[in-house]
Amino acid sequence: MNAHVSSTDAFQSANRVSPSMDAILARQRAAFLRDGPPSLAARKADLAKLKKAIRNYLPEFQKTLHDDFKGRSANDTAILEGMAIVQGINYLRRNLRGWMRPQKRRVEMHFAPASARVTYQPLGVVGIMSPWNLPVGLSLMPLATAIAAGNRAMIKPSELTPATSNLLVRMLAEIFPAEQVAVVTGGPEVGAAFSSLPFDHIVFTGSTPVGKAVMKAASANLVPVTLELGGKSPVVIEGGFAPDRAAASLAFGKLANGGQLCVSPDYVLVQENDVEAFVAAYDKAVKARYPEGPASEDYTSVINERHFARLNALLDDARSNGARVIEVGAKPEGARRRPHTLAPTVVLGATVEMDVLNEEIFGPVLPVVAYRKIEDAIAHINAGPRPLALYYFGANGADRAKVLERTTSGNVTINDTILHFAQDDLPFGGVGASGIGAYHGIEGFRSLSHAKGIFEQSRWNMTGALRPPFGTLTRLVTWYLTR
Ligand code: NAD
Repeated sequence: MNAHVSSTDAFQSANRVSPSMDAILARQRAAFLRDGPPSLAARKADLAKLKKAIRNYLPEFQKTLHDDFKGRSANDTAILEGMAIVQGINYLRRNLRGWMRPQKRRVEMHFAPASARVTYQPLGVVGIMSPWNLPVGLSLMPLATAIAAGNRAMIKPSELTPATSNLLVRMLAEIFPAEQVAVVTGGPEVGAAFSSLPFDHIVFTGSTPVGKAVMKAASANLVPVTLELGGKSPVVIEGGFAPDRAAASLAFGKLANGGQLCVSPDYVLVQENDVEAFVAAYDKAVKARYPEGPASEDYTSVINERHFARLNALLDDARSNGARVIEVGAKPEGARRRPHTLAPTVVLGATVEMDVLNEEIFGPVLPVVAYRKIEDAIAHINAGPRPLALYYFGANGADRAKVLERTTSGNVTINDTILHFAQDDLPFGGVGASGIGAYHGIEGFRSLSHAKGIFEQSRWNMTGALRPPFGTLTRLVTWYLTR
């Protein structure tokens, strides 16, 4: 095990050797029990500290992410990680007071004048596991939510972005003691050991197969899990919808972070008469967004050689089974491509037998699937696992209503792509194979809190009739209540 913790405090200096993960958890839990739930003011102050640190460290994260990806757009980092998390923290700080307030609940007439309420209590220590594709945002947004709900947290980021993970260790150690927030680094073995710790909750963001392994490990300790997973998020373009509009949005949503977002549109269902116009519009839109093609500074590379080979294997499989694979966008003469940078690519004529329509793509490859009637598009979506996101381009009519009612996805964006993810007031999460539970919005606060129902009896009450010795009054009351 190769575990480091983010720590410069007394805890670390008292432990010259890196403490083991269970020792960190034990220290965090002991500190939680010792100090009790943090006040609103303390939570807001911690969130403000986190926000300030992110702002200060953003240029360094832009650099480490560029190194880790061997080409990550600085603007992708600023918008998808920096802006998203700062906006998310602002939202948490604005709403926290209301969420923390106990909620009055109703008691039935025969229990009056007693009262009932729900209080939201921190769970204790939350384990956070994050992927490589947005390693800052997907570590820190769950952390901010855990802090807002009054918890302590241990984070295990991905081993595929080591420079960024080390910077996360340094940044968090500067602002939080390790008995409040600690980062543990390492590969799948560390991940497996981490997920078998008896946390009070685990928030895992990553792939569906690893999510299953994490849930299995957590079940041994009855640790509840929020699983933020992936899948194939479809785009449906209604017949006759302006191809330029859909294409412009897809060139943004599909190619942001090189197509490596959990909410990246995976494939597009286009009415069969519109396919040609859509592909031409997509080519034009990609040229406009990335005038220097894949060599553009703002075009993010595929994370590593393994994923580059995986994407090329998807294309080879499609090609050898009869699909047409077309590179779109600008291809300036002599432009120098960074290593493992894949051009924006469209796959035409893909069939459900091909890997490209079965595996999550997670790269700049867009299969275009023709449909005849909207029911065919719905059937195509429903034949696969439930997706994390669905995108619909079209008017507010019968087809749109049918798609929204007859498909089940984590979230939906209408007439654009990926932007539901940036709405802090919406719950964000998957359904079925794309995940369990949600964060963002009040849902995030609640999933990392314990909703404790409290019934408070009053000195004078009418419940005597429900207790022995039973008599006529009991009979009358039970008759009345069960009539
Ligand atoms: P991954 O599942 O390979 O890794 C995620 C984390 O799990 C990493 O920290 C990794 O070290 C750890 N891990 C790996 N093997 C493990 C094991 N056997 N036991 C325990 N932990 C283990 O995912 P990834 O490749 O880093 O990320 C890409 C995937 O994440 C895609 O499927 C994408 O859709 C999904 N994703 C989902 C969301 C969301 O919010 N729903 C966001 C981003 C990415």
